[in-house]
Amino acid sequence: MMAFVKLIARNRLAAFGGIILLLIILLVLITPWLPLADPNVTDTANRLLPPFSDNHLLGTDALGRDILSRLLWGTQISLAVGLAASLVAALVGSTIGIVAGYFGGRTDNTLMRGIDMLMAFPYILLALAIVAVLGPGLMNALYAIAIVNIPFFARNIRGVTVGIAHREFIDAARLSGKGNLRILTSEILPNVLPVIIITLSTTVGWMILETAGLSFLGLGAQPPQADLGSMLGEGRKMMLNAPHVATVPGLMIFLLVMSINLLGDGIRDALDPRLKSGALSRPAPFTRIRRRRNSLPDPVNGNALLSVERLQTDFEVGHETYRAVNDVSFAIHPNECLGLVGESGSGKSVTALSLLGLVASPPGIITGGRVALEGRDLLDLPPRDIRRIRGKDIAYVFQDPLSTLHPLFRVGDQLVEAIRQHQPMSHAEAHERAVSLLEQVRIPNPERRAEQYPHELSGGMRQRVGIAMALANDPQLIVADEPTTALDVTVQAQILKLIQSLRREKGSAVLFITHDFGVVSQICDRVAVMYAGRIVEIGPTQAILDTPRHPYTRRLIDCVPRLGEPDNEPDAIPGLPPAANHIPEGCAFAERCHLVEDACRQGDIELIATDADRQVRCIKPLSVTEPSTPGVSR
Ligand code: ADP
Ligand code: MG
Repeated sequence: MMAFVKLIARNRLAAFGGIILLLIILLVLITPWLPLADPNVTDTANRLLPPFSDNHLLGTDALGRDILSRLLWGTQISLAVGLAASLVAALVGSTIGIVAGYFGGRTDNTLMRGIDMLMAFPYILLALAIVAVLGPGLMNALYAIAIVNIPFFARNIRGVTVGIAHREFIDAARLSGKGNLRILTSEILPNVLPVIIITLSTTVGWMILETAGLSFLGLGAQPPQADLGSMLGEGRKMMLNAPHVATVPGLMIFLLVMSINLLGDGIRDALDPRLKSGALSRPAPFTRIRRRRNSLPDPVNGNALLSVERLQTDFEVGHETYRAVNDVSFAIHPNECLGLVGESGSGKSVTALSLLGLVASPPGIITGGRVALEGRDLLDLPPRDIRRIRGKDIAYVFQDPLSTLHPLFRVGDQLVEAIRQHQPMSHAEAHERAVSLLEQVRIPNPERRAEQYPHELSGGMRQRVGIAMALANDPQLIVADEPTTALDVTVQAQILKLIQSLRREKGSAVLFITHDFGVVSQICDRVAVMYAGRIVEIGPTQAILDTPRHPYTRRLIDCVPRLGEPDNEPDAIPGLPPAANHIPEGCAFAERCHLVEDACRQGDIELIATDADRQVRCIKPLSVTEPSTPGVSR
């Protein structure tokens, strides 16, 4: 709850709205105890006094009644009626929506056709008609406003409920023996409640306006009772000779509705779970970059295609700084495959996303380093140029192709779109190229497959489409972030083989991210091992597999099970990686290392070269001859 208030407070507009609303509510609550004139006592001798007159701070109206007093009492009534109408509409409308959405079929049809009938009339006319039937009066205005707003809630909530009612956790609840009522209250309601609150918070302002509108027309509050609408209606007649009579309630309506709407928008943003961890703004299209110039290393001239130097990416959440990528340097040469391995959470994906400024900002910030593609610093480029490189020079393949392919477009059309983004050609030409791409990734019957939707393909096929999309513009570098993790082993083997042969045909370089040394051994020329955001060992794959020098690398390699060696049980690494916001001094792996010494926990441990092409971040690297980890049976 406190966190929620804090989130809203961080949104300045919402906080501003909240404070104004709070002030108005406070004022209205203490009105009965304020030394005010009776709002309904007429005093024709003192009619139409201007504001700041003696005893009448805001002047008097045509019957000599004190405007300040009428304003406060009237605001109280308008607020109460508006809120009550909203609550009634929300309660009835949401119930109808939930029941219709959950039960579906005939129930849904009956309820929703009823709602449609309500929606068939312009709602302010409907409200007028209802009041005309019930007779003018504040309570009847309340009913009318509530009734005409029921469809709004019912429609909204039904839509959300339909989406939830078919989800697996509802099936699971049903399988566990829960009845409909229990499912509705304990499974559906908590999921739609945020939507109800959001709808409510964004409609209260409207309902107050609508109530005021009915009173303005003389159908709501009846004389002598004051509410904001009726005061405005009375003031309208003397707009020219006594403008304050109308402007005072008008201003109050404006303040009230504006503050409620600002706060409502803030609540909507704060309740959106995607924004919970970050500030109240949508991620920017490019990661924020905050590098200190002088901390940049001199560019290294080499023949590398991509060279990453001392890259550092942080997540700033509240007052905490999570260092996800810490001083990471590596180079990828043309046509080379570099593996990036490490446990889940070690910073592999953030490293890959940082290359083209794809880390969500906020909370992500690139705080140091350089990413040079053929010598050009990508982090220095204007957004337009980066967009040209994304998907053209550097393309990505992600873990789950079902979530990266658009579910509503045919895969062929999605490929066409990817091609035409960077290469000007006609739709027909692009389509031909799309089919040939599908053929290149060994999809049988590519013409027919191009006409299918993602859900009609198997997981392996979808990943092939993902790879075809990455190949669409003949990239120099393909970044593959765990592309085989969601697939079963046979399909995984096929995909790895495909990537290998495409690399040979096309000559692209690959940055291959995985947590599995088994995969690394099949595909990577060189490998970089990451732990807690840093590279702890880097070198040629075969050399590292044969003689790992960092204890962490050794343990990771030991985690790969081997068929036909039942005695060789893969051994989990004990303990957990350190939290990214509390990385200890010294070696981050010290806590879990069986060879730890006091010196491991002091100072900064450098990446040192052990051979010409190998580096390790350990003060006592394992010796080349050491056969296996002590304590791990082999
Ligand atoms: P992996 O190696 O499994 O790909 P990631 O690169 O995704 O790991 O994550 C590295 C670290 O960054 C993790 O500690 C994770 O908690 C943190 N992190 C990733 N995304 C965010 C985010 N949006 N907000 C805060 N921390 C994040
Ligand atoms: Mg990842």
